[in-house]
Amino acid sequence: MTKIEPPRERACERCGRREVWDVGRQVWRALEEDGDRKVGRAHCLHEWDINGTYSPIADA
Ligand SMILES: [Zn+2]
Repeated sequence: MTKIEPPRERACERCGRREVWDVGRQVWRALEEDGDRKVGRAHCLHEWDINGTYSPIADA
């Protein structure tokens, strides 16, 4: 049996962009903190901090 286990939050190690998973819309969106959107740099090739450990498919 295979089960999808998406992460709920990720951060870019290069520009500091932070995103959260919007479950209802099935999209990543920029995290807002104190009215400030953590969008990072527009042209950054984002390197997400979940890359090393995150595996989209979990074998049960
Ligand atoms: Zn970035």
